Amino acid sequence: EAKRAGGARCIAFETAMRERAARRADIESDLRQALVEDQLFVVYQPVVGLRPDGATDHAAGVEALVRWRHPVRGVVPPIEFIQVAEESGLIGALGDFVLRSACRDFAAWQRDLGERAPRLLAVNLSRAQLAEPGWPAVVRDVLAQNGMRPDQLQLEVTESLAAQDQQVQQRLHELKAIGVTLALDDFGTGYSSLSSLHQLPVDTVKIDRSFVCQADTSHHHRVLIEATVKVAQSLGMSTVAEGIETEAQAAAVRAQSCAKGQGYLFSRPLASPDLLDWLTTR
Ligand code: C2E
Ligand code: MG
Ligand code: MG
Ligand code: MG
Repeated sequence: EAKRAGGARCIAFETAMRERAARRADIESDLRQALVEDQLFVVYQPVVGLRPDGATDHAAGVEALVRWRHPVRGVVPPIEFIQVAEESGLIGALGDFVLRSACRDFAAWQRDLGERAPRLLAVNLSRAQLAEPGWPAVVRDVLAQNGMRPDQLQLEVTESLAAQDQQVQQRLHELKAIGVTLALDDFGTGYSSLSSLHQLPVDTVKIDRSFVCQADTSHHHRVLIEATVKVAQSLGMSTVAEGIETEAQAAAVRAQSCAKGQGYLFSRPLASPDLLDWLTTR
């Protein structure tokens, strides 16, 4: 009896695996198509400065986030295709597209908005991009093409990436040598701890939403945020609180001297024209 149930479970498992593989293959071929048919686009979420006096600096920066307008499925979020892009070798083309689009938009904002334009552009980086030996040169070229100063670009890497092997470390140092800055994304969710922060070549620590969402209600989470900000500050790094959704959360991270914040309270990610509106009406 138990054996039979095990067999049935096994078949169910194999079916699920097959469905997963088929779905993945669909996404992969659709994504290949998306890259040549311009179905990808970039949206921008404001990163605001949290001044100690309670004021908010709306032009501190933006984070570029990729979107996919699928002809049948509508707008697909990155969680459904970034990993497939990484596993199938499409992430290089995707990452190039995001970097080029974002730098072009950033340059246009400087022209259109003057001092109201965002001062910093953050772009997410994947492992495969860091594996490309020629990638730092691409970054340098794209900056030059758009008349951007290197310090206007911040590349976001995850903890597991930043703590990687020698080759990745080498590439991160090459990028820093160009003059771009690096941010550690989703801090607190990975394996590295506060005590290993000093080993990572990063300028900014982004505190993960899972801590920020309880900043106002949980003493434990508040203490972790406070410790992160203190350690980061002592290492000369800046901090950003991710996923701020309420005024109470904003007040709580501000009270911990976190320099910047990002989240639906301030704005959802916006298409470039909507970002222009958002910035001009603040
Ligand atoms: P991330 O880099 O940590 O980006 C922040 C994510 O949190 C975004 O999701 C953003 O829309 C969401 N978010 C921001 N504020 C709030 C909030 O107040 N509440 C909640 N619930 N969510 C908030 P998104 O755009 O779906 O992106 C998910 C992840 O996909 C990103 O996480 C990043 O790891 C990856 N990603 C996005 N664009 C790119 C890209 O161009 N290249 C690469 N390699 N990865 C990307
Ligand atoms: Mg990010
Ligand atoms: Mg993040
Ligand atoms: Mg995150």
